[in-house]
Parts: sequence; C-alpha cells; structure tokens
Amino acid sequence: MKTAQQRWDFEEGYAKRSDVTVEWLHEQGEMGVPCGCEEKGCRGWQMVSLGALQRHIELSQVEDIIAYDEAEAKKLRLILPDHLHAIVRTEASSAAL
Ligand SMILES: [Zn+2]
Repeated sequence: MKTAQQRWDFEEGYAKRSDVTVEWLHEQGEMGVPCGCEEKGCRGWQMVSLGALQRHIELSQVEDIIAYDEAEAKKLRLILPDHLHAIVRTEASSAAL
C-alpha cells in the first residue's frame, strides 16, 4: 500500500531534480500518483497534471490516489468522474478500513 510519506518523498525528489519546490508543483496543478505501468526503471510513482489525471489513471492502471488531506481529496473528486471517486483516499480514511 502506498503512503502519503512515499508520495511526499517522490514529489520532493522530483522537485529537487527540477530545482523547484513541492508547493510550487502543487500550485501548477502537478501531483504524484502511484504508477502501475510495471516498466523497467519505473519508480512506482509518476508526476501528473490535474488536467490529465483521469487519463493517467486509465492508462497506468492507477488504483490508488493518496491525498494529503480531505480538502485535497475533495478537490480531486471534483475533477474525476463518479466511478473513480473511490480510488481517492487519505491515509486517515484508509486506516479506518
Ligand atoms: Zn510507471
């Protein structure tokens, strides 16, 4: 199971390599989501734009989107069609399962 800490670590590494901050990436509408592509060398995460989020979910068989908090989860569900709402979770909600 992917965690918010892993998402943060991926986003932070991505930000450092790009010489920007995680906050800046989020402001640009970019976020780290788990990647299920199983390509050699895949880090298990990918950076996606909110605009292309639905397409990434379908193409990379993403089954699990970890939001940092309920506010972000709500924002992501607004972008996604109803049938994909269930894959957006926070660690708090997954801990309750
Ligand atoms: Zn991948």
